[in-house]
Amino acid sequence: MNSSAKPSRRICVYCGSSEAADHSYLRAARRLGEALAEAAHTVVYGGGAVGSMGALADGALAAGGQVIGIMPHFMAELEWGHACLSELQYVEDMRTRKHLMLTGSDAVVTLPGGSGTYEELFEALTLKRLGIYLQPIILVNTNDYFSAFFELFEKSIGERFMNPRHRDMWTVVAEPDEVLDVLEHPTAWPADARDFAPVS
Ligand code: AMP
Repeated sequence: MNSSAKPSRRICVYCGSSEAADHSYLRAARRLGEALAEAAHTVVYGGGAVGSMGALADGALAAGGQVIGIMPHFMAELEWGHACLSELQYVEDMRTRKHLMLTGSDAVVTLPGGSGTYEELFEALTLKRLGIYLQPIILVNTNDYFSAFFELFEKSIGERFMNPRHRDMWTVVAEPDEVLDVLEHPTAWPADARDFAPVS
């Protein structure tokens, strides 16, 4: 790497596996993969070949990027794994997969998805609230998909289950290309987040 090159980062991406969702979601996933690869970032994701997951990996690989998939054995046995990844790691179970995807990542990016995506996103947010995970969590709000998510958290803050400061745990962008800018200029999250995790 020459001295002017930006450091490569490991970006954990959560997104849907659905093949039936509108093509605009697949396009956003593919573009995110391309953009991350063009910026020389490594994509870490669940290793799937279909839906937004597959589109993400295809985009990154087509742009010459590194893509690491992490998948439990049972999915591999069902042949759900993407065949052309830079690396496909097999793990015992879903918990281990989630743990390995997040651990050591320099940021999380979440695209629209279903229950699996929500679970992954909520775990990352919970760990950030507790000061265990301190990196940026970026939501790509394609088609305003996450509007109900924002309402849910406003309700939690309004009813005092969360602090207004917890809004800073995530950053919202409209387009995949904007993710790169957030990675360059992230909103800092304090290492003492644990001190204001409880609401009193
Ligand atoms: P969802 O957002 O509900 O589509 O879930 C995405 C997550 O579901 C992934 O991270 C996986 O845990 C899991 N998943 C469901 N179907 C697949 C599939 N065909 N290939 C890979 N992962 C899948």
